[in-house]
Amino acid sequence: MTICYIGIGSNLGDRKKRIETAIRRMKMIAATKVGKVSRIIETPAQGGPAQGPFLNAVAEIRTDLTPYQLLQELQQIESLLGRIRTVRNGPRTIDLDILTFGEIRMDEPALTIPHPRILERAFVAVPLREIAPQALAMVRSKTRKRPAAVRRKKTVCRSSRPSKRCRRQA
Ligand code: AMP
Repeated sequence: MTICYIGIGSNLGDRKKRIETAIRRMKMIAATKVGKVSRIIETPAQGGPAQGPFLNAVAEIRTDLTPYQLLQELQQIESLLGRIRTVRNGPRTIDLDILTFGEIRMDEPALTIPHPRILERAFVAVPLREIAPQALAMVRSKTRKRPAAVRRKKTVCRSSRPSKRCRRQA
């Protein structure tokens, strides 16, 4: 089974009840178990139109599903809980994001893992760190960019018999 972390958010209606229902529904996904769940925190909405604050949490799950199968299951839970996609970044009854999926990295139009905005969103990073500091550290290490100076640095060719790379640079 692969350990994954799911970001959960809600800023419409009975937010706490929706988060609890989403977690209950995740427990019903085939070949999937829900583990630790973070505390629920309240955070102001970021981006999008003016809207009420969110309640956010992160849940650990273990699954035998593929990333796309899991995404489909989570989107079904979103629909069941009344999620309607209207305005981008608009208010939502429930939002379920795959933050990490084991050590998998993928960057496809319908699915990016690790979720690209984990580090810039305290409302995701804080509850994730609470239940899985190692997962947050993994995301940090995988998204850390090498300084431009290092990327551009050329090999210093001192040898009288330069390597292929040195010959290419010359
Ligand atoms: P949102 O409006 O934030 O719920 O975004 C939903 C869309 O983001 C869906 O159509 C997904 O295909 C796409 N998406 C890309 N990466 C992820 C991810 N890691 N978790 C959930 N949805 C994702």
